[in-house]
Amino acid sequence: MSDKIGMIHKEEIKETLYKMGILSTIENGEAICYCCNKTITLQNFKAITKFEGKLYFACENDLCVLTLCSLDNSINEDINGK
Ligand SMILES: [Zn+2]
Repeated sequence: MSDKIGMIHKEEIKETLYKMGILSTIENGEAICYCCNKTITLQNFKAITKFEGKLYFACENDLCVLTLCSLDNSINEDINGK
């Protein structure tokens, strides 16, 4: 049962990534975690952010997701703070 739910969820992720035009990037192993430099796969993909046309990925590690979020914050500080 839980496997089926997991599969549906994975298909939804794939569809989202496909619509963003980055499914092939991940499937080709070209996506790297911004924090730990691990190769992003459909299994460990957790978060993504876009800044100045460049994509930043985070793997399933909570710390990596937090770091990616703080990247967002620091970008905002740079834009707004000075
Ligand atoms: Zn990571």
